[in-house]
Amino acid sequence: MSPARGRAAAAAMAGALRRSGRSAAPPRGRSRKRASPRGGAPAAAPAPPPARHLFSDPAEVEALRRNLLAWYDRCKRDLPWRALAASEPDADRRGYAVWVSEIMLQQTQVATVIDYYTRWMQKWPTLQALAQASLEEVNELWAGLGYYSRGKRLQEAARKVVSELAGRMPRTAEELQKLLPGVGRYTAGAIASISYGQATGVVDGNVIRVLCRLRCIGADSSSPAVIDRLWDMANVLVDRSRPGDFNQALMELGATVCVPKSPLCGECPVKQHCQAWRRVEKELAFASQKLFGKAPPVPDVEDCVGDCPLCPPATEPWDSSLGVTNFPRKAAKKPPRAMRTATCVLERRGCHGAPEYLIVQRPSSGLLAGLWEFPSVPLAQDLQEEKEREELADHLQTWMGQPMAAKGLQFIGEVIHIFSHIHQTYVVYSLHLDGDVILDPALSPSRWVTEHEFHASAVSTAMKKVLKAHEKQRRKESSPAKGSKRKRGAKAPGAGSPCPGTQLSLRAFLRAPTAP
Ligand code: SF4
Repeated sequence: MSPARGRAAAAAMAGALRRSGRSAAPPRGRSRKRASPRGGAPAAAPAPPPARHLFSDPAEVEALRRNLLAWYDRCKRDLPWRALAASEPDADRRGYAVWVSEIMLQQTQVATVIDYYTRWMQKWPTLQALAQASLEEVNELWAGLGYYSRGKRLQEAARKVVSELAGRMPRTAEELQKLLPGVGRYTAGAIASISYGQATGVVDGNVIRVLCRLRCIGADSSSPAVIDRLWDMANVLVDRSRPGDFNQALMELGATVCVPKSPLCGECPVKQHCQAWRRVEKELAFASQKLFGKAPPVPDVEDCVGDCPLCPPATEPWDSSLGVTNFPRKAAKKPPRAMRTATCVLERRGCHGAPEYLIVQRPSSGLLAGLWEFPSVPLAQDLQEEKEREELADHLQTWMGQPMAAKGLQFIGEVIHIFSHIHQTYVVYSLHLDGDVILDPALSPSRWVTEHEFHASAVSTAMKKVLKAHEKQRRKESSPAKGSKRKRGAKAPGAGSPCPGTQLSLRAFLRAPTAP
């Protein structure tokens, strides 16, 4: 390591220690104790975390950077945003290209993002182009990527850069986070380091996993105290001359080698710096020596003595059967909230005989804001089937302004879709209309679409699953050999329907409900 880079690493470590409220080791001979402000007994300074949880050796930091970057240069995946970040000479376009990729990659796999990213950058290659797009266009392109508010926020922020910052992207992590709505600490660090070469670390899920394993951090990795430590560590480690590559390398390692369930430690370029791996190796050596009746070559590795805030809690100590996957640990997540929604595929024959479906637009805020869906209504959890059907019929009635018989709705099946915090069950019905209906223009926007138009619209993946279930049911019905195996099939077809699966006419459906 060059003396200059060694000094830089040491200075970064000191800075990180300062930010985290910890102190570096004092000069020899100076006491760790501070004088009491009232002149009483000196107050003890908080003990620094044990060395095994830190990167306190500049030589090791330098070696880790070198090994990780050499591996990245050899093994990195070829990704469109990396190509743009490396080749785009215009700084604002470069920052925008990285920004879009980082927003799309939040909570979404690289393989899924590639196609969306390519289409997005073709359609809106600059901030100015995105600023001029409509929200409907943004939602259409984003459809299927999930977490739909990301696209909306990205576009709002692009408009802000164009209108308030003269189209110039902020160049530092601090400014990016401060000035751009929807840009948090991670995204700001990623844009600043990758696009503008700022030596600032990043901490995302992959980095958390790698750092917790490298330094045996077994405390709850989602707690603010641990997250602060990890940011300090990322800022210490980041390579001063290639910060963007280093950050991407650390994330790439987490995504491809140091994966959650079966990490490939044998192929890991930084295993010699990994405390978790060392511990496993020592345990293996210990076990094999014991097997042959020899004295163990090294003492078994223990967690820190006393109440270490970064070690696994005493109630959940290291479990040898888990190896390095002892880390990271998270407090148990709240189970997702269960929700039921009745939804109706309203179908009619279009002018060319092809089916058309009615879709309506969701409100402009909240879950799936602004997206299109089949007419739907949320249900209470413990409703009887009959009641669910009635609620949906009442809801449809408000669209069409005429009384409706709930029995006319044909049950298709249940479709489950998991959002990040919601376990959603769609109870799917269908209704075929043989004429047009007058929809109340005072209600949410609605339109009839062909199947092709449906897929090109801003509809969620959940609604695509609903249409798929409907089509599957239709195919079953048109194939008499197979028949229908609907769970509720025996009960669902409406009265007036001559046989299960027969589509009702609008006239039959829109009759006044019979008295109970
Ligand atoms: Fe992860 Fe294993 Fe590498 Fe440690 S040695 S960083 S646990 S892959």
